[in-house]
Amino acid sequence: MTESVNFNVIGTIDSPYKEKFAIPRQPGLVTAAQGQLRLTGSANNIELVRGLEQFSHIWLLFVFHGTQNQGWKPLVRPPRLGGNKKLGVLATRSTFRPNPIGMSVVKLDLIEQRDSQVILHINELDLLDGTPIVDIKPYVPYADIIENAQGGYAHQQPESEIQIAFSTEAIAAVEYFTKQHPKLQQLIEQVLSQDPRPAYKHQKVDDKVYGMALYDLNITWQMVSLNCLVVKNIEPTAEN
Ligand code: SAM
Repeated sequence: MTESVNFNVIGTIDSPYKEKFAIPRQPGLVTAAQGQLRLTGSANNIELVRGLEQFSHIWLLFVFHGTQNQGWKPLVRPPRLGGNKKLGVLATRSTFRPNPIGMSVVKLDLIEQRDSQVILHINELDLLDGTPIVDIKPYVPYADIIENAQGGYAHQQPESEIQIAFSTEAIAAVEYFTKQHPKLQQLIEQVLSQDPRPAYKHQKVDDKVYGMALYDLNITWQMVSLNCLVVKNIEPTAEN
C-alpha cells in the first residue's frame, strides 16, 4: 500500500495577493485579479504546454504553502456558514486539510516564452503570491461542468451588497498607480465587495481601519455603515 507520495513543484504563482487576508474564497469571483504562472525546474519547457493555448481555462493544483505548517483538524468552521457551524474538513474547501492541496480553475489569457522562461498569464485567481503549483490540467467543459450538481451549503455564489466609495486621496492614488496596475480600481472594488472581514463581523457595526496588500500597495479602508465602506488611502508598502 502506498502511504506517502512526493511531488515536485512545477511552477510558481506571481499574484497581486501578497497576504492571505482579502483573497477571494474561490477563483472567478474577482475578474480583475491577473497573475502569472512561471514554470520551474525541468517543467520550464515550452513543450509541456504545447496545445494548452487552445483552452480558455485551466485547473491548477497547488500547495497551500502559506498555511501548511499550521496543521489541520477533522472539523472546521466554513466562513460560508457564518463561522459558527462545524463541518468535516473534507466537506469544505478549507486550506487546513490533511494534505494542503488546493485546486482552482483560472482563466488562461496567454502563454509566452520570455528568454528561457515559460510564463502562463492567468486571470481570476484566488492564490497567494508564491503559491507552488504541482499540476496544471486543461479545463474540459464536457467533463467538468455537471448540470444539476448539488452545491450543498455553497450552492450559489455569495451575494454582496457592499457599496465601495473612495476618499479624495484614494482617488488620486488610484489614478497614479493605475499606470503600473491598469485594473487597480476594479481589483480593489471587486476584492472589497466580497467583504474580506471574518464572517462573525458581517452585519455588525465595525469601525476598525483595515489594511490589505495588493501588488506592492497597502490599501486602507473602513466600514462607514453596515453595507458601505470607504477606501481611505493607497500607499506603497513599507519595503518599497
Ligand atoms: N480554490 C481553492 C480550492 O478550492 O481548493 C482554494 C479555496 S480556499 C477556500 C481560498 C483561500 O485560500 C483564499 O481565500 C486564501 O485565503 C487562501 N490561499 C490561497 N492561496 C494560498 C496559499 N498558497 N497558502 C495558503 N492559503 C492560501
